[in-house]
Amino acid sequence: MRLANQSGRLKIVAGDVAVDVEDASGGQFRAEPQQIFDRWDEFIAWASSVDATVGAPIIESELRAPVPRPGQIFAVGVNYADHVEESGLALPDAPFVFTKFPASIAGPYDTIEHPGGSVDFEVELVAVIGKQARHVPVAQGWDHVAGLTLGQDLSERDLQLSGPAPQQYNLGKSFAGFAPIGPVLVTPDEFDDRDDIEISTILSGAQMQKSRTRHLIFPIPVLVSYLSSILPLRPGDLIFTGTPAGIGFTREPKRLIGTDDELVSRAETIGEMRHRFASTNRTHPREVQ
Ligand code: ZN
Repeated sequence: MRLANQSGRLKIVAGDVAVDVEDASGGQFRAEPQQIFDRWDEFIAWASSVDATVGAPIIESELRAPVPRPGQIFAVGVNYADHVEESGLALPDAPFVFTKFPASIAGPYDTIEHPGGSVDFEVELVAVIGKQARHVPVAQGWDHVAGLTLGQDLSERDLQLSGPAPQQYNLGKSFAGFAPIGPVLVTPDEFDDRDDIEISTILSGAQMQKSRTRHLIFPIPVLVSYLSSILPLRPGDLIFTGTPAGIGFTREPKRLIGTDDELVSRAETIGEMRHRFASTNRTHPREVQ
């Protein structure tokens, strides 16, 4: 099943058309997309009988983040060996986890404010929690995932890496709009292999990243198990699972995102996001006194 958030209303997608969940359910399920994860099993049982092919055409410009208000966003760094190598870091012996604060969420086709500094791309597969997870064994990790979406872990490297360690990962990756996700949420059964999904970044026509999630050092069930051994994962939470090699900051010369660029992100079976960046002329946080 494929779900979209069109202008704040939850839709079940079939090809290029979609049905409105609140209308089709006679109000049994509300239109607001975030609340559906609290009733996920009940929703899926109902939605699997809906014929979405009779829906109305999807209006791409109205698509918003399929998970608009996650309670928690976990993000995993250095989770592909080739990206660990380009970053000059050692292979991790446990997931390296930081957060993107929830106010950084954006939609799949939004224009994002460029804060200045060194803005970089990190295409990632994003897991959406569908069932409370606490002390979950690895073998049951997937049971707690509602679906998958595509994300960009946008990162302003000057703030992220400023000063001596420990550094500002959480803030450098949480500027407004720096957590775009979409264009749809796809349930794991829709994939040929939910553990092997191609993701890629194309920046102004040049392919910058391309890999498959089978190369994740800590795959999704391990991340669910590990995180849930520390705190509860709740329905509607997100896990950005990490980015493969090819980021702009470690290239020679660097290839960072400017306000003339179009950033295209793709994931097999999920689709494509397209982002442009607008200059703001605001004070960069490193200059705030
Ligand atoms: Zn990342």
